Amino acid sequence: MKTSFYDLNFNDLCEFVQKNALNESVASNLFNWHYKKKNLTKCTKDISKTALALIDDKFDFELPEVDLVHESADKTVKFLFKLQDGSKVESVLIPFHNKYSICLSSQVGCAMKCSFCFTGKQGLKRSLRPSEIVGQFLMAWNWLAENRPGEERILNIVFMGQGEPLHNFDSVKKACEIFLSKHGTSIGYQKITISTSGYIPGLKRWADEIPGVNLALSLHSPFDVKRDELIPINKAYPLEEVMKTIDSIPLAKKQFVTYEYLLIENFNDNIEDAHATGKMLKDKRAYINLIPFNPIPDSTYKRPGNERVAAFKEVLDTYKIPTLIRETKGDEVMAACGQLNSSEIS
Ligand code: SF4
Repeated sequence: MKTSFYDLNFNDLCEFVQKNALNESVASNLFNWHYKKKNLTKCTKDISKTALALIDDKFDFELPEVDLVHESADKTVKFLFKLQDGSKVESVLIPFHNKYSICLSSQVGCAMKCSFCFTGKQGLKRSLRPSEIVGQFLMAWNWLAENRPGEERILNIVFMGQGEPLHNFDSVKKACEIFLSKHGTSIGYQKITISTSGYIPGLKRWADEIPGVNLALSLHSPFDVKRDELIPINKAYPLEEVMKTIDSIPLAKKQFVTYEYLLIENFNDNIEDAHATGKMLKDKRAYINLIPFNPIPDSTYKRPGNERVAAFKEVLDTYKIPTLIRETKGDEVMAACGQLNSSEIS
């Protein structure tokens, strides 16, 4: 069986080149062709026929297929991708100032079962391979080139789609290595953010294996009793331990950790919760994103009114923690945080 070319980072490819006594420029030419130039066709340039034949024999270049595309009025684009085994995952392009961030999925479904999350309702089907993660990026890029020519600028990558990225650490790590490679997309460390529900086994690998990549924690409450309800793995990995592990990860100059806080009316949007959050984060290099809850089917949670959201932020401001109320983009196509569930639209 062939290996996917897109499962290889640059070092893997160099090893293949060395082992087969190919010209050492082959690795950089291939990365340049497929990742810098974003060509989806096979590379035919500056590579000998012998090398091409060997590459053809060993690797396949299959990428996820675009199954459905939803565009919303604010230019958000939600993709439903079909993978080789027929599984489906979603990715979202989020526009900002004529550029885009892309929100990538790391698993088909998710094992974490967060109570506010549409994806969690699916359970975990399987984890994605690096090629299926990198493939979402390449296909979205090419969709932009075809449909919004001149706008193919995806400058930020966030792992906030379907799945708990740290529960699929090896594939997410390899995808990051591919994105970071200066021979390819050359995306900077600080332009990649991995969001976690607090999966400690993955957080423990962070400092050694993906240093410099931005970390976002789905906090949602400073109290274990509320977090247990929202994020059931909090029972196995309580907040205090999660925070200790995060504090042990060294940050680069000017780097901070983002704390995502989903505001649910009359559940975690009280002034007391805001003060407890402020006290917990005030001495840390923290940045808070407040996200008013996005409705999902069959949920009793409600979105708080703007005044409650503003009041929560005002309390955090007194602790001098940079806090942003995240503008919801794409909710008309169910592409906002916690709303991804590929089984519902297939
Ligand atoms: S919020 Fe994230 S970690 Fe929780 S169930 Fe949804 S996808 Fe999984």
